[in-house]
Amino acid sequence: MPLHLGVDDTDSVRGMCTTYLATELVRALPELDLVGFPRLVRLNPNIPWKTRGNGAVCLRFARGHGPRFQVGDIDGQPAWAYRRSKPVEASGAMAEAVSAVVERWSRFDDPMTNPAIVLLSASPSPGLYWRAVREIVAKGEALAAIEGLGFTREWKNGRGVIGAAAATAWRPRDRTYEVIAYRHPSRWGTPREIPATAVRGLDPRFPSTFNNYDEEADRSVITPRTPCPVLCGIRGDDPSVLPDALRSLGGELPERWLLFETNQGTDDHVVRNPRAARPWTSVEIAGTVVGEPRTIPGGHVVVPLRWRQTLDVVAYEPSKGFRNIVRALAPGDAVRAIGAVREVPRSLNLEKLEVLGLAPVLEKPENPSCMRCGKRMKSTGAAAPFRCLRCGTRRPRSDAAFVRRPRALAVGWYEPPVGSRRHLSMPLKRLLRRGRERKGVVGRTPNRASPSFSRGADSFCLLPLSANPRADIKEDL
Ligand SMILES: [Zn+2]
Repeated sequence: MPLHLGVDDTDSVRGMCTTYLATELVRALPELDLVGFPRLVRLNPNIPWKTRGNGAVCLRFARGHGPRFQVGDIDGQPAWAYRRSKPVEASGAMAEAVSAVVERWSRFDDPMTNPAIVLLSASPSPGLYWRAVREIVAKGEALAAIEGLGFTREWKNGRGVIGAAAATAWRPRDRTYEVIAYRHPSRWGTPREIPATAVRGLDPRFPSTFNNYDEEADRSVITPRTPCPVLCGIRGDDPSVLPDALRSLGGELPERWLLFETNQGTDDHVVRNPRAARPWTSVEIAGTVVGEPRTIPGGHVVVPLRWRQTLDVVAYEPSKGFRNIVRALAPGDAVRAIGAVREVPRSLNLEKLEVLGLAPVLEKPENPSCMRCGKRMKSTGAAAPFRCLRCGTRRPRSDAAFVRRPRALAVGWYEPPVGSRRHLSMPLKRLLRRGRERKGVVGRTPNRASPSFSRGADSFCLLPLSANPRADIKEDL
């Protein structure tokens, strides 16, 4: 088994990015070969103290043999990785070389940045990954999971050791890829120059990519909006096309790029049918709408859902047009909701919604017509009979004809626009394609009413929209 190097919590909202540090680590260990793709592993996005996107990096090193494949370009030199390898021993010298890179590039000035590295001779139990992507893992638990496997090094409170260890424990059931391009240091902090038209062209030209352009907000979401070294990141299911997709953009030329295997867009963070909606987790629950949707101050839309308990389901203001889907729900509708459980008030921040069935909605009864003269009758009070003003005929209240209101909503899946999706959320583009591939049928195709937005403000290093009054569905705080 190759050496597993995990790094986490080196970045801050003011700059830097743990993935950039990965490129420096590849440079710092020239005597070792990468085995498999570098990995970018996102962990529970609901952890209150996470740094930005809560992403850790895992690089696997050994002496490679057999065919190699390109996973990057650093300072004009291709970065290669191997499928097969001969093991090497972890050494104190390697840990020192890695530590020097972390000390050179981490943002120690940020109080929320608490870096750590782990250098392990074997991958710890995958249970650590599943705990860390779905729940809250204590530092002691992470340290126990890697005990005896190799070196660890911590800085400040060393909380990064949890993510660093969890990243080395990831054994993908599902995976996607992201090519991340980095800027020349002289450009850091300056506006990024990537033509919007080229970004819009990614979905049609490279259909296996996703979360490229937010059509609703009319902006590219492959570029971060922080002064970090990242130029852009393109996500997709097929790693072989991502370098071409990057080259297709034109505009500012990257100084280096690296192709990561990631758990982004996999829904790995979602706990299905939990016994209870516990805070700081993301869950998938199916239930019945038990009240009218309402819009609360700030433009958020709330609707009560009965499941094991009654839980308010919320589409926050930054989810824009997606709120109209929630507004169109009615009591009796059957829905599947995927979202993050908020502690106070206890509610579910929607990440995706499937409408399973629509209840008939009856309009306010229409007054009946007069049996004798045909004229529309008048109501004479809430419980009183109808009366014809022309001839005086009366009809009982129960003769009123209810009409079924047409629903402005269809059965099927809905999701927020690209700009307000979470890194780990599986985009419908992926979910529906996988469904088709698996069964030959998806069950349902996306609705026309579905806002077909294409990724998000929460791309690796992005800051939340300044207009966003609540950071609940943002990852980069
Ligand atoms: Zn009449």
